[in-house]
Amino acid sequence: MDSNDYLSHITKELKLHFFDLLTSEYNRSYNELLINLVHILEDVLGAEYVGVYEYNTSEGQFFLHTNKVKLTQQKLDYQDWVSYQQDHPETGYKVMDGRPFFYKKNSYILPLYNVDKVIGFVYVLFENEMEVDNVRSILHSIVDEVAKMLLRIRKDSQTLEEEKKYKRLFDVTAKFHSSMNMEEILTEIIDTLRGVYPHFDCYLLLSHDYSSTQHLPIKELKFDNNEIETASAQAYLTGEIQFDELGEQNASFYAPLRGKQGIYGVLQIMSLPPLLFHEEDVEFIKLLANTAGNALENARLYQQSKRLISDLQLINETSHKLNSNLRLTDTISYMANQIKSSFLAEEVGFILYKDHVNCIQDVLSGSTAHFHDPSSEHLRDFVTQKISATHDSVFIGDISTKISSEYCSVMAIPMIQNGSLNGLVIVLHTQPYYFSFETFKLLQSLVHHSTLAFANSMLREELEQLVRTDYLTKLCSRKYLDETIHKHIDEQNDGSFLIIDIDDFKKVNDFYGHQVGDRILIQVANIVKEHIGFKGTVARWGGEELAIYLPHTSLFEGYIIGRVLVEKVNQMTNPTVTISCGVSYWDPTIHNEVKDFFIRADRALYEAKDAGKNAIRRDEVSSV
Ligand code: GH3
Ligand code: MG
Ligand code: MG
Repeated sequence: MDSNDYLSHITKELKLHFFDLLTSEYNRSYNELLINLVHILEDVLGAEYVGVYEYNTSEGQFFLHTNKVKLTQQKLDYQDWVSYQQDHPETGYKVMDGRPFFYKKNSYILPLYNVDKVIGFVYVLFENEMEVDNVRSILHSIVDEVAKMLLRIRKDSQTLEEEKKYKRLFDVTAKFHSSMNMEEILTEIIDTLRGVYPHFDCYLLLSHDYSSTQHLPIKELKFDNNEIETASAQAYLTGEIQFDELGEQNASFYAPLRGKQGIYGVLQIMSLPPLLFHEEDVEFIKLLANTAGNALENARLYQQSKRLISDLQLINETSHKLNSNLRLTDTISYMANQIKSSFLAEEVGFILYKDHVNCIQDVLSGSTAHFHDPSSEHLRDFVTQKISATHDSVFIGDISTKISSEYCSVMAIPMIQNGSLNGLVIVLHTQPYYFSFETFKLLQSLVHHSTLAFANSMLREELEQLVRTDYLTKLCSRKYLDETIHKHIDEQNDGSFLIIDIDDFKKVNDFYGHQVGDRILIQVANIVKEHIGFKGTVARWGGEELAIYLPHTSLFEGYIIGRVLVEKVNQMTNPTVTISCGVSYWDPTIHNEVKDFFIRADRALYEAKDAGKNAIRRDEVSSV
């Protein structure tokens, strides 16, 4: 075989092997491919040792790929090598077709070019010393093939890397879409970055209102005046990627976590030692940050809408309950409990304005204990005066800076009905700045929705009171007394019943006029009411007649009480009137007709009238 044939044989063989390597089914890593390249070169050249140095642009050095530990120098600076060769011509520096080519004894250095850039070089060591020109022509014939192969391997593996990275981005995007949890999304961002760029440090810069668990590398975004210029703050404010590559210790770039409606934080990528970031990496991280920003936005919106729903549920549930005709005290206790549990409040007070001019208020029962304590007056006055002046809600983070108070956080909402201020709700907590503004807004809306129900409860209670009491004498109504007696009798109790009638009242009216008659009626009612106290129930039975029910009181005891009343009215009224009285007794073991209980008293009353008035008679049948 002549030398030309030999050269073309070697080139062919090399190409064949390269082809096999590239078309092989087996998926090799970048390093494996380079080791294979080394093997092929050793085989085809019949060399004892081959090492491929590959140029790393970011490090500015050559790195060795070999399958045998022969060359101890794992890294090489190309320029150093060239200068060394030039300074030592005895090593055999030669130029081969305009390209440097070195040999020393039986070892050769062959630079690999991509156009005019050195991308690496091959070190070849032959066992025996060979004819330099032969080796030169062999190496000359294969150098371009090897360079092409190296580029191809590099490109393929880069594509593969990119593919892997984007697959990861795809996976992570899918995960983001399925998660509505901020914490999960942040964890996923960090895990992805750590997986793809293990040599970078990653941090999440978030505003202080984000409370997170410990495991995430979260730093607080700072906006102090002197920090506003920092790259991180700029990234947050402008929404654009910012670089900070001038540090001596490290280099960073900041990618904003951007959604459609805003920026939710900044991602910091830091490299130790400092280096210039690759465009592809920046692009990838920018994509990740944007995806994450959108995911965070979704999660936040979802959480917001969930909170809104639960707020609405609270308002709905409360309004519903309040409209179910609760008694006022129950309404207030219910509201106080709702506010305590929903807002984690310590004290809840319901204050009613009774007299706006003199600022007189009433703490409604159902309010929590503190409001019934005189020590709460100071704070109450402060808040009620503020609200009665402006009709606006009060939201104070620390009231202890204004007045002395053991409670610092204060929310107070006026209850305004048809434009007039009925009262207010005060909510307290000992910790300063305990309630959020959202809580305050929700409380406002809750109070707003329940004001009508409150007013209704209060009106209803007033109405009931009206039905229960006689408008003139303020005694109980006949209906109320009637119900009380029936209830008591149904429970098998005994008691006595007194009917009182003012004597010759028609004449009194005729003589003094109806208005004086009314006043006398009130006087009599007051005398009776005061004397009976809690011993029984006093009612206006009708016209100028009163009735008394005395539970667990014998006919005789009732008679004595009646006698005292007859005397007292005679002595205490002015102008003087007298009364007549009839007493009956109910014994549950004997009597069964309630109507009879009243009739017997009435009969006794007539006996007293017949006896000349200003007298009392008891129903003799009762004592049988
Ligand atoms: P007797 O001693 O028999 O009870 O005589 P009397 O005049 O009290 O009885 P009569 O039934 O004839 O008249 C009751 C009077 O009481 C008639 C009515 O004008 C008066 N009266 C009833 N209710 C009121 C009231 O609310 N105010 C006033 N001022 N008078 C009343
Ligand atoms: Mg009468
Ligand atoms: Mg009368």
